[in-house]
Amino acid sequence: MMGINTDLLHAEQVHAELWGTYEPHAMAHVSPIYQTSTYVLKDFDSAVYLNQHVEDGFAYSRFGNPSTDELEKKIAHLEHAESALAAASGLGAISTAAMSCIKAGDHVIIGDVIYGCSYTLFAKVLSHMGIEYTRVDTSKVENIEQAIRPNTTLVYVETPANPTLKISDIQAISDCVHSHKGITLIVDSTFASPYLQNPLDLGADLVVHSATKYLCGHGNVVAGVIAGDKERIHTCRMPYLQCFGAVLDPFAAWQLMNGMKTLGIRMERHCQNAMKVAKYLENHPKIERVYYPGLESHPTHEIAKKQMHGGYGGMMSADIKGGLDAVRTVMNNVKVFSLATSLGNVDSLIQHSPTMSHFDMTPEERYASEIYDGQVRLSIGIEDAEDLIADLDQALALI
Ligand SMILES: *Cc1c(COP(=O)(O)O)cnc(C)c1O
Repeated sequence: MMGINTDLLHAEQVHAELWGTYEPHAMAHVSPIYQTSTYVLKDFDSAVYLNQHVEDGFAYSRFGNPSTDELEKKIAHLEHAESALAAASGLGAISTAAMSCIKAGDHVIIGDVIYGCSYTLFAKVLSHMGIEYTRVDTSKVENIEQAIRPNTTLVYVETPANPTLKISDIQAISDCVHSHKGITLIVDSTFASPYLQNPLDLGADLVVHSATKYLCGHGNVVAGVIAGDKERIHTCRMPYLQCFGAVLDPFAAWQLMNGMKTLGIRMERHCQNAMKVAKYLENHPKIERVYYPGLESHPTHEIAKKQMHGGYGGMMSADIKGGLDAVRTVMNNVKVFSLATSLGNVDSLIQHSPTMSHFDMTPEERYASEIYDGQVRLSIGIEDAEDLIADLDQALALI
């Protein structure tokens, strides 16, 4: 077993050889992009076989492609999983994973604080297909126990949660969920990345990531991944991803693998910078409250300390005193931070959760989940922390 930084570079690395009759010999150090929709098959019998056993080879790129295959093997390695599946976006991964374990008439339990579109998936799409949902504060496992019904088949948790960074205890939730029969636990671990947290080791059945975020790290790819045991991932692939068609493009897979090589050193710097910014904001007179799991003041800091690998990530939210007007002043005047949704990029971003990522929730739902009107979400990049602090300082001074 190698360290994760070695694995990020070498695990499942393909050094591809040009095959067939090509001369002179060449073996690519970085794997090529298999930008092809289909494959020339050896003969009739292997064509018949491959179309029915899509995991044993490549017949058509919606069923599998060498570039996405290499990515999937790397993700499985990083999440300590038997298998993994790439999707065209985080939501492509989440909807595929969720649909693979529910049917009409089922009941699902979702965290009260989750990414806005994940909430929309359950609240406005799956609920119209006869799948009921209950939102609970998953940072307290007893809330999940109380919400379980005879027809509950899925518990969907995001930790750290977007945007309040609430932490849920994956091990405790897994113990609770698996003391009942037939319930799958899916954890969205996007904010942590595999560098800071491995939900499958703590009992989750499937882990999902928006790979658009930290895994890619450079803001130039939209992608998602699912990892878990062979059987569950096979079901996600066939028939769900195969039929919904949210497959990842080979070029995006290749770009994502380039980004992933530096995940370790990026996450180290994200964590260091975020801690400095969080401490600065916590002492700022114009800030009401800072939500960063690395701060001892964070209500679920102790769970984060226990289940994350010694770092708390680069994401935080902060309530600015003065509501929307103050938010507008800060967001219009930052110079190093970009006003942009998304997160996990090498450069710092700022967004307003109530009107941007979480606009689909009702105000009542938002307030009950501590998503207040004056709240901004910061994705702390790998710039010099002093410059990030100075940038926020000048913008906050204009309120
Ligand atoms: C961004 C995000 C998603 C959705 O991912 P896309 O790649 O945009 O589809 C899901 N979960 C979390 C926690 C996210 O931050």
